[in-house]
Amino acid sequence: MKHSKGRLEVICGSMFSGKSEELIRRVRRAEIARQTVQVFKPSLDDRYGAGSVNSHDGRAKDAIAIERERPQDILDHINDGITVVAIDEAQFFSEKLVGIVNYLAYERDIRLIVAGLDLDFRGEPFQPMPALMAHAEQVDKLHAICVVCGNEALRSQRLIDGKPAHYNDPIILIGAQESYEARCRHCHEVPGRPLK
Ligand code: ADP
Ligand code: ZN
Repeated sequence: MKHSKGRLEVICGSMFSGKSEELIRRVRRAEIARQTVQVFKPSLDDRYGAGSVNSHDGRAKDAIAIERERPQDILDHINDGITVVAIDEAQFFSEKLVGIVNYLAYERDIRLIVAGLDLDFRGEPFQPMPALMAHAEQVDKLHAICVVCGNEALRSQRLIDGKPAHYNDPIILIGAQESYEARCRHCHEVPGRPLK
């Protein structure tokens, strides 16, 4: 029987749920165990190359920024001997990420730690995340605290000039005056959302 260490772990949840914190924790533990780790994230602007993964509580880890539509470029950066690959903000990568991650787990025997938003600001599944969760050996869904009612929050409330963003606003809006809050299903507001 072939013994393989390749596996996929997905960390999902809303904004502020601690996904980056948890990814950094797992990466640090792997490094303490003397495993060789590489960390990637999507680039939301034109800066590719050196960058970092940052959590809202101030932790950071060096990461390589990769073009969102070209997750296959991750392969060019994986050196021989790498056993752990971590990818943060995975929701921003194209669906091609699913094939790349499966290739690394099956063919290269790599442990993947992938973190990302499972739902966009409208409360709908976010790009490659549902498929990644389906392929994963382990899925951890983290909760934040709803800033309105204090219950567990699994949604990310998008605010533009302090008001809930409309359903038809683009999912990624760079440079706008916007902010996000963690909210539960009941306090999550999306004007214009069709009933499904
Ligand atoms: P994510 O990557 O899921 O956005 P981070 O790991 O960056 O989350 O940040 C999680 C941290 O955010 C928490 O440990 C806490 O310090 C902070 N935080 C801010 N607002 C909230 C909230 N509403 N609920 C929970 N944690 C929050
Ligand atoms: Zn609430």
